[in-house]
This record gives sequence, C-alpha cells and structure tokens, in this order.
Amino acid sequence: MKPLGIFGGTFDPIHLGHLCVAWEASELLDADVLMMPSGVPPHRPPPIAGAPERLAMLQVALRGQSRLIPDGRELARSGPSYTVDTLVELRSEHGDRPLVLLLGADAFAGLPDWHGWRRLFDLAHVGVLSRPGEQTVLPDELAQANTGRWVDDPAALRTRVAGKLIALSVTPLEISATRIRELIATGREPRYQLPSGLFDRADLLAPYRR
Ligand code: ATP
Repeated sequence: MKPLGIFGGTFDPIHLGHLCVAWEASELLDADVLMMPSGVPPHRPPPIAGAPERLAMLQVALRGQSRLIPDGRELARSGPSYTVDTLVELRSEHGDRPLVLLLGADAFAGLPDWHGWRRLFDLAHVGVLSRPGEQTVLPDELAQANTGRWVDDPAALRTRVAGKLIALSVTPLEISATRIRELIATGREPRYQLPSGLFDRADLLAPYRR
C-alpha cells in the first residue's frame, strides 16, 4: 500500500522551501503527503497569522496537484499540538497503511524533547529530510532508540506500518518564514519565495503587514 507522509509545521506562511522538500519526499517515497499546520506549537511562540488564514494559504499553495494534501486537523484541536496524538488518530483512520512522519534533520535530532517521542516509532516510520551529504549528530538516547531501524530502500517502508527510519536526500532552499514575515512587515513583496497565488490574496498576507 502507498505510504502516507505527514509534513507538519507552523506554515506562517507556507513557502517554497516547505513545498519543495515535501514534494521531493513524496516522489522519493511514492507517497501522498499530508501538509499539516500546527495549532498551538509546543516548541515556539504563537504564529502571527490565525489558524483559518494559515489553512487558506496552504489550500492556495497546493492548487493544481494532488500529491500534497492540506490537513487542518491540528488547527481544530484545543491545547498544544502533539504529533503523537495526531499519529494515533491517523493510525486509527488508515489501518494498515504505512505512515511516514517527515522531519528535517535538525528537528529529528531534537526528537527526545518531544512529548511521547518513543511512541512515535510504534505509530509511524520517520523520514529524515537532509541535504545531500549532511550528517547530523544525534543525542545518545535517540541514537540508541534508532538501532536496527535504518533502511536505505523506500520499498522497505511498505513491508511494515511503522518503526523504520529512512534518510531522504532533498533540496532545501534558503527560504525562511521568519525572513518572509520581516520582508512583508517592511513593505516588501517576497515574490518567488512564496507560492504565486498568495499575491492574489492580499487578505491572507495582511497579518504580516505592520
Ligand atoms: P520560521 O522561520 O517561522 O521558524 P520555518 O519555515 O522554519 O519558519 P515551520 O513553518 O515550522 O518553520 O517549518 C516546517 C518544517 O519545514 C520544519 O521541519 C522546517 O525545518 C522545514 N523548513 C522550513 N524552511 C525550510 C526550507 N527552506 N527548506 C526545507 N525545509 C524547511
């Protein structure tokens, strides 16, 4: 069965850096990928744009293709958005379909700070998105938890529903949502960093203008 990827983020706003790596991961895994904005991110200050705006921006960004699918479930939940809760929900919805949590190499290295992180491997595989040749130093407890999980071939993720780790070599772009927010706040128009459709929606970019 085709795996289902999950790519989460604040997406404040969604930009071409997010879309490029999510797309490449979906191609490498031959998977559909749920693009999931987080509601109340547990690890960072609250977003500038509201939940409906961030979801609407995602919907605009994802027009014209069907591999990357917007999923607003974490926005509807009250309290912090814990990935483990989302994966429990997805597991019950998708039965035997392999799930692949997609994480940047930095986020992966910080996994032991996440709520219920050890349970993640019972619920999903993890795809670590890295630049070609990038090596990340992992904390000891994570390196130990990873023993026996690494696979090289995406086909190996189809033989089980969860529990494997794969490194996915992608093309991160030097685009940052923080920088985009700064540019918009100072009256600039960060074209070619954001999906072009967003520039037809002044209402959605309004929260970033000062
Ligand atoms: P901010 O600048 O607001 O912190 P961000 O884009 O870094 O924004 P998120 O929206 O939470 O933060 O990012 C979601 C995921 O996308 C994270 O795993 C992050 O590492 C990854 N990501 C962000 N920017 C890029 C990029 N330019 N290329 C590849 N991955 C990215």
